[in-house]
Amino acid sequence: MAIGGLVALSMLAVACSSDSPSADAAPAAQASAGSDTTSSAPPVSTSTSTSKTSTILATTTSTEPPASTIALPQNLGGESIFDPYYPEVGNTGYDVTSYDLDLKIDVAGIDTLDAVATIELVTQAPLDRLSFDLVGLDVQGVTIDGMPAMHEQTNNKLRVVPDATLAPNETFVITVAYSGQPTDARSLTRIGTIGWYDFDTTTSVTIGEPTGARHWFPVNDHPSDKATYSISVDVAEPLVGVSNGELVADESSNGRRRTTWEMRQPMASYLATVSVGDYTLVSSDPAETTGVEVEDAVPTRLLSVFDGDFEQTDEMLDVFAELFGPYPFDEYGALVIDGEFSFALEAQGRSIFSSGFVDGDGSIERIVAHELAHQWFGNHVSPATWQDIWLNEGFASYAEDLWLEFGRGGNITQLETRLVERASTALAPAPGDPGAAGLFDRSVYRRGGLTLHALRIDVGDDVFFDILQTWIGRFGGGSASTEDFVELSEELAGKSLTEFFAGWLGDGALPTLR
Ligand SMILES: [Zn+2]
Repeated sequence: MAIGGLVALSMLAVACSSDSPSADAAPAAQASAGSDTTSSAPPVSTSTSTSKTSTILATTTSTEPPASTIALPQNLGGESIFDPYYPEVGNTGYDVTSYDLDLKIDVAGIDTLDAVATIELVTQAPLDRLSFDLVGLDVQGVTIDGMPAMHEQTNNKLRVVPDATLAPNETFVITVAYSGQPTDARSLTRIGTIGWYDFDTTTSVTIGEPTGARHWFPVNDHPSDKATYSISVDVAEPLVGVSNGELVADESSNGRRRTTWEMRQPMASYLATVSVGDYTLVSSDPAETTGVEVEDAVPTRLLSVFDGDFEQTDEMLDVFAELFGPYPFDEYGALVIDGEFSFALEAQGRSIFSSGFVDGDGSIERIVAHELAHQWFGNHVSPATWQDIWLNEGFASYAEDLWLEFGRGGNITQLETRLVERASTALAPAPGDPGAAGLFDRSVYRRGGLTLHALRIDVGDDVFFDILQTWIGRFGGGSASTEDFVELSEELAGKSLTEFFAGWLGDGALPTLR
């Protein structure tokens, strides 16, 4: 996620900075205010100390669910993962391995969705009932391994009751037929709206971070339960549906076009996306060094200016692969939405940009680098809980500077001066515990990014880049916490860094850089 420089609803300027403050970061989606995503359970922080600086690392261990939810008395799947910021999402008792979403979407009037979700999961306990997150859509029927199962919808949960107890450690396939008018919702964060953006009669997109996936499919909507995805999108021509990963089927019949996209590497639910629009799919040759296939989805009217803003993608792939390790997915591509909103979002293998950012003048270079870097930091290694958000945003922000240093021959002293200046204007909230509403606050980006530069100075380049590559190698495909990063850094640096991270990731004065 990168916050651009939009003010109100008009595009004034996109600063060469992906987190520039926005007086009003409300997206320009013509979406009605939806239901309050937190109405059933307001987020709470588990931090009990008034001194975040000194307790920041301790709080990461306080997010363990209470033992009572693990025991699953009466074989009921738990209906919260106890995320410290968003306890209303997530479900326990199972681990999803794959989602197969078959979506028929119409956008001519108010958007409608008619869909079947096929969810393969492994039970982690005996289950007489399990639940998924689902908001604003009506379920017509549920089956488990082909047999009809009872279901109910309440408090933004879909509860499923099998005929007989589901045995633990077994694989089950659950299908959910559902439909309705997908909705958006105000999020607590600076980005404003999440869920389903219905721009107009030709353009729609989903924004999942942090809890928007449940607005368009039944899901265990928490980054700790990653899965593979196959997503088919059936829309009226000449429109086309775009989603994550590789386009494996593209069929037209009776005036409708059905595209099928596969994401074969585990993906957090907030990184799944689908968009409908007047897109041209533009393939380019694999990047010279990395061999990564790049296929962009661009509004046809913007084809002539697209390259001016995205022509460095291949070179960025090369530089980041050199610094962080191989690009983690089969394909990469930008998705430019023909509508204005104030941020960019790193959907997996498919970074989403507002058309308001794209005019061909190259001024969004930092944002393009930022979203690409998220493919390693946030997407391949996802946050264990939302409190770990700096592992996404601090890293992607610092990667902007790494691109300028290693890809553009930037002066490291000048880059460092800018990093310090910007972090000095965004000390709080603590990047290590910004709170649910502070998820995308500037300190998470700026102070979080400077934390990594400080680590680099402290341990030296060799150890620093070893830490980054080992982080990706060890936790890639899964989710990891701030505590995991601190432990890894200490392991490779051969010394305690607990105080170091507590200082940098807190909300007090910046520690001394050198
Ligand atoms: Zn970001």
